[in-house]
Amino acid sequence: MSESNLPTSIQQAGPDTLRIEWQDRHTSLYPVRELRLACRCARCVEEFTGQPLLRDDDVPDDVRPDKITQVGRYALAFHWSDGHDTGIYTFDYLRESCPCCREDSA
Ligand SMILES: [Zn+2]
Ligand SMILES: [Zn+2]
Repeated sequence: MSESNLPTSIQQAGPDTLRIEWQDRHTSLYPVRELRLACRCARCVEEFTGQPLLRDDDVPDDVRPDKITQVGRYALAFHWSDGHDTGIYTFDYLRESCPCCREDSA
């Protein structure tokens, strides 16, 4: 794991935005519903085939993280307002899915 993929701050920046600041001072803003839909736990993605089990319709429009806890030194566990709490998001995965880094427009 790259050292820059360590968050220095994790905050709810608005009702539907999560802000993570990283060791290298990059700031990521995540639409929380997209994070919920990107969950890769065994209840959201079929373990062997990789088929998504979670449908867009399954997630309420106003879903948000009720609680975020750190898992070891490498990941975050989200407790979502829809009751889902088995998803773990590694820092590497979160950093790779940073919306501003994924898109060409700055
Ligand atoms: Zn899940
Ligand atoms: Zn970014």
